[in-house]
Amino acid sequence: PRKFFVGGNWKCNGTRESIASLLKDFNGAVGEPDLDVQIVVAPPFVHCDFTKEKLPKGWELSVQNCWIGKGGAFTGEVSAEMIKDAGIPWVILGHSERRHLPQLKESDETVAVKVAYALANGLKVMACIGELLEEREAGQTQAVNERQLKAIAAKLKEEDWKNVVIAYEPVWAIGTGKVATPEQAQEVHEHVRAWVASNVSPSVAAEVRILYGGSVTAKNCVELAGKPDVDGFLVGGASLKPEFLDIIAAHK
Ligand code: 13P
Repeated sequence: PRKFFVGGNWKCNGTRESIASLLKDFNGAVGEPDLDVQIVVAPPFVHCDFTKEKLPKGWELSVQNCWIGKGGAFTGEVSAEMIKDAGIPWVILGHSERRHLPQLKESDETVAVKVAYALANGLKVMACIGELLEEREAGQTQAVNERQLKAIAAKLKEEDWKNVVIAYEPVWAIGTGKVATPEQAQEVHEHVRAWVASNVSPSVAAEVRILYGGSVTAKNCVELAGKPDVDGFLVGGASLKPEFLDIIAAHK
């Protein structure tokens, strides 16, 4: 059985004041840790230490990106080694905003090299994939997700996969309020798992968590979580609200 996983991607949001207030709400509501769910929140780099001090028991920390390789003369970047050294176990890589924002434009190859490097340096990775609206409308959904996954898989050894979760985030659903239907999510998740079974191994396919991301809310999460290949969520906007706790409870 795959443990349910809920990630909160805070993106480029938050002040110390807003984060302190959010964590106060979370701590006030969370009792004993729920051992049936893994919870990971990803603040901006500058807020990681501050967040770590106040994180509810059992919750884990992630960052939202890292440099592609070893540190050095790369002004403004943060390396996987530094993240590991700071005691942060997770990194989100290949988020659609990093793939598609014109200022960033990370390629499949860049994302794949980052994933492999982060894993080789002891981080766990939430690896994001997902199609654009025009790709879905052109009937290319499965092909695009396969292409992004294939680039990553080509650089990993089978044992690396125990430290990877896949996040399927259709770009048209991110921050738009247009959530994928449970059927649309299941269709892609099932296809992704089948691809992993054929191209990595059946045991990795059986174990890897595939998260859905894109306009997940307290209202739509339970139905999505009911689908057999939806193993959790990567939540943006709603992870900055007490509503995040309802999404964590969706597996029950
Ligand atoms: P929203 O939940 O705000 O749509 O963002 C999803 C996302 O991009 C999480 O990584």
